[in-house]
Amino acid sequence: MEVRHLGSGVHVLPGPVNLGAIAREGEVAFVDAGLDDSPARKLWRWAEEAGFSPRAAILTHAHADHFGGAYLWENRGLPLHASPLEGAMMEHPFLEPLFLFSGAAPPQKLCSKFTLAKSCRVQNLEPGIIQLGPVSVEVVALPGHAPAQIGVRFQEVLFCADALFPEEILRKHPIPFCHDLDQALASLKVVEEAEQVVPGHGPILTGERVRAACAFFRGHLQKIRDIVHREIAVPKTGEELVHRVAEELGASLTDLTDFVLALTTIHAALTSLAREGLAEGVVEKNRLLWRRQ
Ligand SMILES: [Zn+2]
Repeated sequence: MEVRHLGSGVHVLPGPVNLGAIAREGEVAFVDAGLDDSPARKLWRWAEEAGFSPRAAILTHAHADHFGGAYLWENRGLPLHASPLEGAMMEHPFLEPLFLFSGAAPPQKLCSKFTLAKSCRVQNLEPGIIQLGPVSVEVVALPGHAPAQIGVRFQEVLFCADALFPEEILRKHPIPFCHDLDQALASLKVVEEAEQVVPGHGPILTGERVRAACAFFRGHLQKIRDIVHREIAVPKTGEELVHRVAEELGASLTDLTDFVLALTTIHAALTSLAREGLAEGVVEKNRLLWRRQ
């Protein structure tokens, strides 16, 4: 198994979701757990083979690809830590498809393992220094992609989860999921100060590549906001805006999940515009239309 050692006891298990491991004095704390049991099992096996005793896992946010599986908690009894709001969603993962479907009972297609993970019990943690046995890390608030996402800083390395989508990922998924576009832009300022960044998806970045990736992602988010602003010169529904943005960015949304995830991002752009008095939602002839204010 390929595990990258970044120095000072920091390790990364690369995969569809990058998982972290911070080792100190024979013990190790994990960052995120992956989509299902398989990556968490790999992480556990790697720790055992390397002679580290797992102490705890920090889960960055309540998206199934980061905290799924429940293997670490259910099968290994490992203490899990998350911010209170994200932790509540991990304990009640049905909230995710529920939100994505506007609070209505979600159809089965929205309850796949990508949107509905197994429940796990977590302990709350707040931003600041936390001590997990001999492992001391800084928990950093990085909201925006998810409402209360956190990152984990250890020396020069920042595990920033989905606060940064590198260019490689944006090419495949041109409408990245976003809960609050303004918060996402603010969190990027924290990410770009780090010397080395492990994003949730894509390559590990160092030095100038961190700055370049942050600048690219910032530009990409602003571009989505700009397209939405331009398009509402003629009033449109949220669904029409998803279509316009997807066409312009070359995104291919192929199923219900893809579409509702993109719709959330479009809503985040509309909220950002509304905060500046640049957009408003009005109901005309029983249609919810977004237009310039
Ligand atoms: Zn995510």
